[in-house]
Amino acid sequence: MARVAIYPGSFDPLTNGHVAIIQRGLNLFDRLIVSVANNPQKTPLFTLDERKGFILEAVKNDPRVEVDSFDGLLVHYARQRGVHTVLRGLRAVSDFDYEFQLANMNRKLLPEFESVFVMTGEDYFYVSSRLVREVATFGGDVTGLVPPHVASELRKKSIR
Ligand code: ADP
Repeated sequence: MARVAIYPGSFDPLTNGHVAIIQRGLNLFDRLIVSVANNPQKTPLFTLDERKGFILEAVKNDPRVEVDSFDGLLVHYARQRGVHTVLRGLRAVSDFDYEFQLANMNRKLLPEFESVFVMTGEDYFYVSSRLVREVATFGGDVTGLVPPHVASELRKKSIR
């Protein structure tokens, strides 16, 4: 049976840290569903379609990767998709705290739910979507932190 995992996130925008997790996830799973969270409480810099487009462009139509989105609870989406394994990335101890709570809450809500963590490499441990947004907004250079197509869209959002 094919091993499938969901890789959920805000991806606002996709960074090279996310891309590395997708690549490493593909060494563990036959297929990945990279799914963009549509959280109406957050005001994203990029629309849902833009965020999905960034991922599609980065995986260049790799048949092993599906790009999707979801509203509401991840466990409901997982149940609906019939996929109970979720891939997450860990950068630092600060991620661990939140991820540990999230993984346990999700398992409480859906007992068969399993979280698999991949640790980031030394190249991207300091890269987060939030910092990338901040740097880019003020005209900083994000080359090497995000894929080139994301960098060019970020440049258009610069306020300088
Ligand atoms: P969220 O808004 O849920 O934190 P993100 O889009 O920021 O979603 O991240 C999705 C997942 O990717 C999370 O598991 C996060 O820890 C992981 N991640 C983000 N950036 C990196 C990185 N540079 N290295 C490794 N994992 C990362």
